[in-house]
Amino acid sequence: MNVFEEIDRREHEQILFCSDRKVKLRAIIAVHNTALGPSLGGTRMWMYLNEEEALRDVLRLSKGMTYKAAIAGLNLGGGKAVIIADPEKDKTESLFRTYGRFVDTLGGRYITAEDVGTTVRDMEWVRMETRHVTGISRALGGSGDPSPVTALGIYMGMKACAREAFGSDSLRGKRIAIQGAGKVATHLCEHLERDGAKIMITDIHDGRAKEAVKRFKATYVKPEKIFETPADIFAPCALGGILNDDTIPKLKCRIVAGGANNQLLDEKKHNQMLIERSILYAPDYAINAGGLINVANELEGYSEKRALKQAEGIYDILRNIFRISKEENVPTTVAANKLAEQRIQSIGHIKQIFSSHSNGAAQNHESSIKT
Ligand code: NAD
Repeated sequence: MNVFEEIDRREHEQILFCSDRKVKLRAIIAVHNTALGPSLGGTRMWMYLNEEEALRDVLRLSKGMTYKAAIAGLNLGGGKAVIIADPEKDKTESLFRTYGRFVDTLGGRYITAEDVGTTVRDMEWVRMETRHVTGISRALGGSGDPSPVTALGIYMGMKACAREAFGSDSLRGKRIAIQGAGKVATHLCEHLERDGAKIMITDIHDGRAKEAVKRFKATYVKPEKIFETPADIFAPCALGGILNDDTIPKLKCRIVAGGANNQLLDEKKHNQMLIERSILYAPDYAINAGGLINVANELEGYSEKRALKQAEGIYDILRNIFRISKEENVPTTVAANKLAEQRIQSIGHIKQIFSSHSNGAAQNHESSIKT
């Protein structure tokens, strides 16, 4: 892998490799873009097969955060970090505190949070060494679990989809098939039940699905049957990559709108397949931006009321995406990317912000976003 080529290709500003043999820390922090504000994104802890895989992942994820923050209307850029280690065995206070010191050296150009493989407790160790961390527990004045805010955003996004596809944003009587009965899905069901939607739900943990069935008077669906369940809306709220060559032909819905990240296995190809099947797709990073909105709120002194209010705005964001998609005859993913890029270009003054945050580490000054 040609590291600089890879960095140039995705137009990153800065990559920091963090290593401390004594505490067994090997981490990579990727700052993709700070045109709109400091980069924010979680720290993923994962047993990557090799360094190349870790670098690719952090470059991909940090770019995604730039787009998510931009489309959500936040004054934040995109960043992400990966720690190459086993989250089951390798966590120690010294590892996270050492990592926190590396985060601190970036002087606020990168703000971290929890992600796959890390928890609020880990972030509290990081917090001992740097204030550039968010997603801390409510007890310590943080924003706590983001899933209620994420779920509200998805619910509002679903309403925007319903308006686009059915001419009304009411979800009363609409059949909603939900994949996953975890935190986001459960909070989503609260809104859907209140609106009188018909919920159909599955989970690979049978107990979770059955609990939701009982609580929301929903219908239980076996995990392998969820794609072919006739529904108005299919809501992926489990894992990524689930919209692919095998599953798209099975879908019997008019809309796909859910909380999972990276739902399309191949963004271009699979969005096109959905269009050919006349299925409206709500771009995942736009509809699930409530979680980021929640942690971003912590930076200004957390207020749940304000975070929920902001997440309601996802309705208008989706309406805008559909407008561009129709006007320009482009897939909704292309429309979403365009909206995010436009905001970065019109508001971001990357060179000024870049130099004001500069700390002398290796940086790609020819960064990308055309202001
Ligand atoms: P969670 O772990 O609480 O729930 C996920 C559920 O999906 C689990 O119950 C799991 O058993 C189930 N699942 C996994 N694979 C499945 C399959 N093949 N079929 C059926 N069920 C399956 O996670 P969550 O916090 O609810 O997040 C759900 C998704 O939303 C994830 O993709 C996450 O990255 C994304 N997301 C979450 C937030 C948030 O605020 N929590 C924010 C943005 C995006």
